Amino acid sequence: MGKNVDSFHRKIDYLRISITDWCNLRCIYCRPRGKWKKLPHSEVLTYEEIIRISRIASGLGITKIRVTGGEPLLRRNIIYLCENLSRIETLESLTMTTNGVLLKHFASDLYEAGVHRLNISLDTLQPGKYRHITGKNMFQKVIDGIEEALLVGFYPVKINVVAMRGINDDEIGDLAGLTFRYPVHVRFIELMPFSGEKADPSSRFISSDEILGILKKVAELRPASSTNANGPATHFRFKGALGKVGLISPLSHHFCPACNRLRLTADGKLRACLFSDSETDIKTPLRSGASDKELEEILLQAILNKPERHSLDDYCRESLSHRPMVAIGG
Ligand code: SAM
Ligand code: SF4
Repeated sequence: MGKNVDSFHRKIDYLRISITDWCNLRCIYCRPRGKWKKLPHSEVLTYEEIIRISRIASGLGITKIRVTGGEPLLRRNIIYLCENLSRIETLESLTMTTNGVLLKHFASDLYEAGVHRLNISLDTLQPGKYRHITGKNMFQKVIDGIEEALLVGFYPVKINVVAMRGINDDEIGDLAGLTFRYPVHVRFIELMPFSGEKADPSSRFISSDEILGILKKVAELRPASSTNANGPATHFRFKGALGKVGLISPLSHHFCPACNRLRLTADGKLRACLFSDSETDIKTPLRSGASDKELEEILLQAILNKPERHSLDDYCRESLSHRPMVAIGG
């Protein structure tokens, strides 16, 4: 068995790195209102620290890295980080999740730096509603970012939509219809209970099965293959569409048995399950002079401690995490 295999025989080959907990949007399901404080600069891993951890992780069998946040494009010299991550010899894929607001400016340099796949978050096609969901008037900037990414040659470009009852459930057909206009994959994600929204999030929850029912009424829908065999999405394609639609069901059909992910938070904690606050501190040893071998052991321990599954059997009233999503990295 390879070193990157956890206690439940899952091969962990995917590292999602949150490089900042800061964001230029304030999505209702992600970023807490009120008192939540940004990490002090000194607590955030430097690029050199992130690159070192990534190199060691790749030696253990991590072949895919996603850069996320907060909003990753807000961090200074992001291109430097991507260039260095993409130079890791055994890395097969370097991807990014972004809200797209700054993408028009960065798309070409990101591509040059070795990021060739993007996930872009967009929950509505109505500028007014976009402002309601995100707190900012940036809708057109995201559309411009998506168009620029397609022009530059990113493939696939995936559009992440968090489905919310009473907010964007009336737009599921229109959002899926983007696949007729652009060669993008539109993926509907079930709303997860993180501490963004004040209202009970379960009243906003829409299951993937319900979304699929809505999609089937839009046009003829056929099962489609996935571009990433390890991905959690189930894919479909409308007849005649350029792209695919996908359903991501972390709650109704949880994908724990196939989960291949490890997360690194901006403040240097390894998190083996999105829904569990059990974290392994790698920053303290890193900053106290730990050798590569010692850091390797810490990574292996985090992999071994990965829980079998999350404990969201009943959709809960309160967030299960003390960290909001903006501080974990989605
Ligand atoms: N700022 C970037 C963005 O929005 O794409 C990257 C970070 S964001 C935390 C990563 C992903 O997590 C986004 O696609 C976002 O929609 C998703 N997300 C955040 N909170 C969520 C929640 N409560 N339920 C489901 N998805 C969520
Ligand atoms: Fe920011 Fe992304 Fe969270 Fe929205 S989902 S608040 S864009 S980190």
